[in-house]
Amino acid sequence: MSRFTLRSVAVVVALVPLLLAACVAPGEVEPAPSEAGDRVFPASYVPIRPRVLAAPRDPNGAPLPIFLNRHGGVYRAGDDDSARNRSSVLSSVGRSQATIGAYGGGDARWNQIVSCVGDQFARFNVTITDVEPASGPYVEAVFGGNGSELGMDNTGGVAPIDPTTCSVIHDAVVFIFTQALGGSAQVACEVAAQEIAHAFSLDHEFLCEDPMTYLDGCGSKTFQDVDAQCGEYSARDCICGRPSQNSVAVLTAKIGAAHTPGVPLPPLPPLPPPPSPADACGGVDYFGTCSAAGVLSWCQDGALLTRDCAASGNVCSWQSDTVGYNCLPAPPPPPADACGGLDYYGECTADGVLRWCQDGTLNTQDCAATGRMCAWQSDTIGYNCM
Ligand SMILES: [Zn+2]
Repeated sequence: MSRFTLRSVAVVVALVPLLLAACVAPGEVEPAPSEAGDRVFPASYVPIRPRVLAAPRDPNGAPLPIFLNRHGGVYRAGDDDSARNRSSVLSSVGRSQATIGAYGGGDARWNQIVSCVGDQFARFNVTITDVEPASGPYVEAVFGGNGSELGMDNTGGVAPIDPTTCSVIHDAVVFIFTQALGGSAQVACEVAAQEIAHAFSLDHEFLCEDPMTYLDGCGSKTFQDVDAQCGEYSARDCICGRPSQNSVAVLTAKIGAAHTPGVPLPPLPPLPPPPSPADACGGVDYFGTCSAAGVLSWCQDGALLTRDCAASGNVCSWQSDTVGYNCLPAPPPPPADACGGLDYYGECTADGVLRWCQDGTLNTQDCAATGRMCAWQSDTIGYNCM
């Protein structure tokens, strides 16, 4: 498996096929699900650059607003900044700008979505609003579009995540492609819960009842207070070295429990693992580093991985802001100097042979053989047979 494949795992989960066709023009009313049980859960995440994270918030301080945006907008690539419509997701998919159309499902269903997302996060220290906050950090959840705006045609939603240190991205922009999801407010709500929670470091969970899942067929989903395995369609390790994931425990630790200001909180239950991926990787992050000997090192899922670029005939160098350092094909060697350092003015050998370089080719002429001698002629010609 090439390094590029390894490093693209989080992006590739965006490409899980939809069960519903997404063919609704922007602004049209979204279709209702064709039948009960039609579900779509390819709601993915893309890793962000850990070094761009803002200072952490106090999870027990003022509640973090989550702005549910039904109006669409123009988003630009960059470090996440909800107030300025900057999104690292755009950076990750290589788009400098994208326009998301407004939510087309009407007021009644919109209000159902707002209410449902409010219920999903009711026990945590956040506020749910569909009015854009005028100041301070907030997570923005954009409802609209079908994913093609970001080149993600078969995706229900997408969000940034910090898979290296599992920090909260409290000014994240996450997307819920409602035109690709059918008309169900419940489905849009559950995809929104997943995307928003990605910004709070929750991985995909191999547990059908939890909104972090790709699984279906178990009724409506809410965050589950159980230790679950991670994974999409099969169990795998969780990000950040977590041996398992408890959605409620992680969200409580990351964004705090809902509480009345001034009332002391009960002590938090400790999270199962003390995730220290940064330590496990010795300070190397996902973007990695190159050794002088051409060995690439990078941190992924809390583990330090290495690849000897030089051993495979490649060079270790910076690839992009999305991938970081990588093993890349060695640049072609510069054309060999056929003249061995000799210039146009040339030289004379001890036995009277003139040698000079012209158009990259070494030329020789045996002056002695033609009864001449090799000597300096002029600053224009250099050496010549005289
Ligand atoms: Zn997801």
